[in-house]
Amino acid sequence: MSSVVAPPSQPYLSAPKVGFVSLGCPKALTDSEQILTQLRAEGYETSPSYEGADLVIVNTCGFIDDAVRESLDAIGEALNKNGKVIVTGCLGAKAGPTGGNLIEHVHPSVLAVTGPHATTEVMQAVHEHLPKPHDPFIDLVPDHGIRLTPKHYAYLKISEGCNHRCTFCIIPSMRGDLVSRPIHDVVREAENLAKAGVKELLVISQDTSAYGVDVKYRTGFVNGRAVRTRMTDMVRELATLGMWVRLHYVYPYPSVDEVIPLMNETHASGGRVLPYLDVPFQHANQRILKLMKRPASSERNLDRIRAWREACPELTIRSTFIAGFPGETEEEFQELLDFLVEAQLDRVGCFAYSPVEGATANELPDPVPEDIRNERVARFMAVQESISRKRLAKKVGKVVKCLVDEVNADGGIARSMADAPEIDGSVFISPAEKPWKRYKVGDIVSVRITGSDSHDLWGDVA
Ligand code: SF4
Repeated sequence: MSSVVAPPSQPYLSAPKVGFVSLGCPKALTDSEQILTQLRAEGYETSPSYEGADLVIVNTCGFIDDAVRESLDAIGEALNKNGKVIVTGCLGAKAGPTGGNLIEHVHPSVLAVTGPHATTEVMQAVHEHLPKPHDPFIDLVPDHGIRLTPKHYAYLKISEGCNHRCTFCIIPSMRGDLVSRPIHDVVREAENLAKAGVKELLVISQDTSAYGVDVKYRTGFVNGRAVRTRMTDMVRELATLGMWVRLHYVYPYPSVDEVIPLMNETHASGGRVLPYLDVPFQHANQRILKLMKRPASSERNLDRIRAWREACPELTIRSTFIAGFPGETEEEFQELLDFLVEAQLDRVGCFAYSPVEGATANELPDPVPEDIRNERVARFMAVQESISRKRLAKKVGKVVKCLVDEVNADGGIARSMADAPEIDGSVFISPAEKPWKRYKVGDIVSVRITGSDSHDLWGDVA
């Protein structure tokens, strides 16, 4: 590599190239997008290979032990194949076994390590080890920045950090307390994404319902109008921009009730708040929820779900759960299964409890043995599979709007309003038989549903 790297005191004559490895959740992905946008703004190029890069940035995840291993392996690979590595992301904030920094302990030859959401610090490290290109204007950045998602959908991160302290989670210790982005900043980014052709906006954060709590729902100005830094107000703004707006990581607080009626409205622009809520309930038993220190744990979730569905019959509810949390008895797990049957959620993920280094839940008594944790996940998923199968079967014969993600020889792979990318199901569309029924990636088409299983749907363009 030394032959292509100029001495630090000399400016580059051709644009220096940075390799980028992005691991982790959508929140980490938006951090990667910000760093890539800044690199591009300053005239750096990106390299698709380790060998072609002058330096590599690895954005890590530290959420569970498997993610830690994957991140440490990725750093090792980048060091072997390139040698000049800057590490950022959640794992960068994690302490090693004897204090100090975990990554510096395992891989002492990395050039620099930062925590998550640290574009400025990452850029400082890049400047130090790979000087800025001679002409910072050689490559102008589009208004919507650099995105790692397909052109037709984008994640919009509205805040960083979290004020809760769930006992199984170490995110607050890595990302800090809630910091909401100013409302005008959020809406401006969304406007730029709409101009760039985005059809679906996925609103993400650690707790979307808490947006603005840290700034006491301060009033900001959007295009000269006063708008509060508050979830409902933000969502109302986003819905006017002509895109589908999908809400992730919403907690069942009473304030969420206000958003539900908005899901029944379609704007003249074609924009709408999708009738979809991603609510990570995690459990149903009050004692376990208290041990987990979950937000809104005392809310009457079944009543709330019922009221939401009454106000918006089309509503899809997705959730995640943990089985085998320390101390969970068979009766408490059964209560979770009963909740599942009662709640009739549309999309559900379930994870066996996995101790995360540094999480306070690890100190709780009566850990559940691994084989029982796994067995409970299997029982949970069997119950949910039968619920999903029945709920999806009810869609056969209906016409639903779908956003096309992919077109291939077999037809199209799309998603309905009930399906978020990566985590939910797909709608497989037959090839168009008539020219006016043709579709391409990014189109929103009406599909008549002809078949279903426990996860996906099949249909033809209506
Ligand atoms: S709400 Fe709980 S699980 Fe989610 S980031 Fe905050 S502390 Fe972690």
